[in-house]
Amino acid sequence: MNFESILLPGVNAKRPLIIAGPCSAETEQQVLETAKDLANRGVKIFRAGIWKPRTKPGGFEGVGSKGLPWLKKIKEETGMYTSTEVANERHVFEALKYGVDMLWIGARTTANPFAVQEIADALKGVDIPVLIKNPVNPDLELWIGAVERIYNAGLHKIGVIHRGFSSYDKKLYRNLPQWHIPIELRRRLPELPIICDPSHIGGKRELIAPLSQQAMDLGFDGLIVESHCNPDCAWSDKDQQVTPDVLHYILNMLVIRETQQ
Ligand code: PEP
Ligand code: MN
Repeated sequence: MNFESILLPGVNAKRPLIIAGPCSAETEQQVLETAKDLANRGVKIFRAGIWKPRTKPGGFEGVGSKGLPWLKKIKEETGMYTSTEVANERHVFEALKYGVDMLWIGARTTANPFAVQEIADALKGVDIPVLIKNPVNPDLELWIGAVERIYNAGLHKIGVIHRGFSSYDKKLYRNLPQWHIPIELRRRLPELPIICDPSHIGGKRELIAPLSQQAMDLGFDGLIVESHCNPDCAWSDKDQQVTPDVLHYILNMLVIRETQQ
């Protein structure tokens, strides 16, 4: 497989590539306030979940398509690129209609080859970067299989996101990092940019900095971090979100060493 750069025009190629924004888009005011603060601190790619795959029914499942015009407004007002999660064909069509710049496939979806194939088919002929999170279970072949499905649909701007793996015993981490799995993926597909999601691995704010540093030391290309203007009041994943201000501090503290991969 020959991959092209996932970088969007004007985004600095220097490590780490940063994608930040709230777990979920909640209100227009919340996403705009967060995006403006992030943009002022140099973040160029905004993330926000529009459709949220929740473990149990009855919780907040995302604002849905009504949040897409908010992302468009963010683009217009801040110049940031926008990204969101897609889990089926309808999500793809809706996101593209509103000019979302980058898509990601969530961990629960990567575990489902039918869903990944449906997304791949919906994206045929579209030139957009797609990031593929690892499946919830530690299955490297399933992860690579999802990359192949997207690649075979003609999309070559592909990156992967390491967000940790589910385990029954949750102690320190929400999702076990099992770093050897993404490292093995990089050995198999050395051209593929690899991004770490310290928010979903750690599940807590305090772990964002050490996990981000570990990812940098291991030669990861980027970080996708959950950031919210008022994390304690977030409608999803509140324990693992930080304000743009704290994110800026964490990123400034990172030591980026040249790594031999
Ligand atoms: C998310 O990025 O908010 C998300 C739902 O992540 P994951 O698919 O890694 O659980
Ligand atoms: Mn989240």
